[in-house]
Amino acid sequence: MVQPYKHEPFTDFEQQEHKKAFEDALKQVKEQLGQHHDLLINGERVRTDDTITSTNPANTKQVVGTISKANQDLAEKAVQSASDAFEDWRKWDPRARAEILFRAASKIRRRKHEFSSYLVYEVGKPWKEADADTAEAIDFLEYYGRQMIELKEGKAVESRPGEENRYVYQPIGVTVVIPPWNLALAIMAGTTVAPLVAGNTVVMKPASNSAVIAAKFVEVLEESGLPKGVLNFVPGSGGEVGDYLVDHPKTALISFTGSRDVGLRIMERASVRQAGQNHLKQVIAEMGGKDTVVVDKEADIDTAVDAIVVSAFGFSGQKCSSGSRAVVHEDVYDEVLEKVKAATEKLTVGNASEENVYMGPVVDQGAYDKIMSYMEVGREEGRLVTGGKGDDSKGYFINPTIFADLDPNSRMQQEEIFGPVVCFTKAKDFDEAIEIANNTEYGLTGAVISDNRAHLEKAKYDFHVGNLYFNRNCTGAIVGYQPFGGFKMSGTDSKAGGPDYIALHMQAKTISEKF
Ligand code: NAP
Repeated sequence: MVQPYKHEPFTDFEQQEHKKAFEDALKQVKEQLGQHHDLLINGERVRTDDTITSTNPANTKQVVGTISKANQDLAEKAVQSASDAFEDWRKWDPRARAEILFRAASKIRRRKHEFSSYLVYEVGKPWKEADADTAEAIDFLEYYGRQMIELKEGKAVESRPGEENRYVYQPIGVTVVIPPWNLALAIMAGTTVAPLVAGNTVVMKPASNSAVIAAKFVEVLEESGLPKGVLNFVPGSGGEVGDYLVDHPKTALISFTGSRDVGLRIMERASVRQAGQNHLKQVIAEMGGKDTVVVDKEADIDTAVDAIVVSAFGFSGQKCSSGSRAVVHEDVYDEVLEKVKAATEKLTVGNASEENVYMGPVVDQGAYDKIMSYMEVGREEGRLVTGGKGDDSKGYFINPTIFADLDPNSRMQQEEIFGPVVCFTKAKDFDEAIEIANNTEYGLTGAVISDNRAHLEKAKYDFHVGNLYFNRNCTGAIVGYQPFGGFKMSGTDSKAGGPDYIALHMQAKTISEKF
């Protein structure tokens, strides 16, 4: 009997025993750093001469691990292996597939702090963010397993006398999974196990910045009973291996999470029919965001300040849901800005392995350079209120930064910066605030801070985002509670962690029999 789903609780680090357990895990994982991880193709480990080296963004001299790197020949073998394994896996009892996910969830739960420690070292996540990432991965395993069990008999349709109609879901085939590095465990795990539990076989190309944590997760799935060939793990360059997998005629479904440009490229390439391809490829693409916190004049100012700071600077603003824009009613603009400045200047920036660091580093040199280049744009387009400085001498550290008085159409207010930068724009009334909030190409998350019920009702219809939050921050969606996915250029609105997600990895079949 499967228990009803409940999300994994977060660790309370105020309690000494939890704090100590986490410190111990950090120490243990530190001793394991530098290990090598191989590809997994058809159940076999494959070692290559060419490798990816993953380093700690807080201390670039510290090697987290090396990972074998696939080329196109190995990607081809992985697709063939997934294609062969599909014939058997697709007919497995869905409950047996779900049980593999439940076993994996309990293994990760037992090693929770170990996984979180890898997140601390590999992508610079502060303790609480790392803990939430691991909890979310466990949630995806538990939730998608249950969703598949619910779907296994299909859905009810009508039958007339003398006929029986059935409406069932069947897997699609070889699924290419391409996750990002920012929710390095959760999104990678969720996008991998959703197609698997649905009966598809998977070729997963992890993000190069977080390939070690992906390798650790793949080990857990193997230990949990996944048959060989069902999951193939091929780290490699996005351009070389990613394109090859997307283009492959045997690829049936692509599940991508990452930037707008790569998502668009994948959609375009997936629409081209390749020689020998007799199906339309399906694409799930969850992409970037430029998310706004709107503050009304009738609003609790402390709630607004907290929502802006948490949304903007959690995980150094490296969330697709990060609130990088604050659009504030002119009557409370100065007060909100002043209080956000004061709260921001209290945030700590440092090595994420240390306790009570609010913001760790940004993920790599490319991210650091890109974010720092926006500091110049911000100075030209607006007024620097605080921050604006970085230091990449040891790791990629950037101070939390606020720019004010920006034109809603400025680059700072339109482009995804993906770093610890929030930009303020003043609105003359609530209608204008919503208009500004909607004026980007993205539509992922948004928050409205208001005590005016009519304004909240208006936002329900007019604020065009996939995840809308009232009187709280716009980050931190929880699996099974706040299904997640965006509108417009933010993606295909797949609603990860929601009741419709597994069905996106399947095709519905109607079977009608006459007696
Ligand atoms: P990214 O640069 O687009 O990379 C995402 C993945 O795509 C990585 O595995 C990357 O591999 C791979 N890739 C790169 N080029 C490719 C190609 N030509 N063909 C196939 N795959 C390719 O994004 P990121 O920097 O990892 O993540 C940050 C972005 O993700 C932000 O825009 C953020 O908003 C978005 N995001 C969206 C959601 C959501 O749910 N909407 C959630 C999280 C993040 P390499 O690492 O090897 O380059």
